[in-house]
Amino acid sequence: MNKLKSENRNFYEELKTNKESLSKELKVIASDIIRIYERLNPFFFLTEEIILGSEKVPSLLDKFLELEFAQIDLNQDYIPSEFELSINEKLNVDDLELKLTGKIDRVDINSINSTFKVIDYKTGEPPSKKDYEDKLSFQLPLYLILVKNYLSERFQGFQIDDAEFIKLSPKKRDGLKRISFRNDILKSSDIEFELKSTLKAIAELINHIRKGKFNLTTIERFESRICRKCGYQNICRIDFIKKEATNSEPISEQ
Ligand code: SF4
Repeated sequence: MNKLKSENRNFYEELKTNKESLSKELKVIASDIIRIYERLNPFFFLTEEIILGSEKVPSLLDKFLELEFAQIDLNQDYIPSEFELSINEKLNVDDLELKLTGKIDRVDINSINSTFKVIDYKTGEPPSKKDYEDKLSFQLPLYLILVKNYLSERFQGFQIDDAEFIKLSPKKRDGLKRISFRNDILKSSDIEFELKSTLKAIAELINHIRKGKFNLTTIERFESRICRKCGYQNICRIDFIKKEATNSEPISEQ
């Protein structure tokens, strides 16, 4: 994709007219990258088979192209324009200065309508609608805020179209799918309202932390919804604290 951008080519246009040669080209680029990782990990040939495919295993890259091919009519005016875009911004919410940082996998721009889409690739399970309702996941709304501000500083009048997760997993069932923030998660056209309420929720969390209010969570199934993806599991004492709390619960009289 980066190569397509540097040569100013239209990904969707080429996908429509020349899917086979695009597939070959992507596999050559992927092979070059894989060669770097092969030197670091002797078992990387397993990942290589998943990405490039073999007689037994269909290529994940080809599956990705099929997924994009199914979107051509909707996306044909969009050009994947930014990749791994790092943005740092400061925003003021309720007298609080938020410092936001994001590295966005892909931004597709439609310069005819002056709209954009944010794309995030996931190899695991993306956050659910309930994770957004419970304000457990902030990723897509924050990316939209960052990219909207980033584009506004450079061009005039760019509006949000949508954000999407593209799940790319070798799993046979549900391994590949596209999840729209607007249609599948919010099920509403009011993205702007969601962005404002996300910023409010973050400001509220920060204010609570500053006042020392950060109790153990009461969110249901927090182990699988939050802790599973946490990088601090090795040093976290939540299991110990939960066990202690359970052991010290008063035994009710029979
Ligand atoms: S593992 Fe510990 S630090 Fe990480 S999310 Fe769970 S409770 Fe929080």
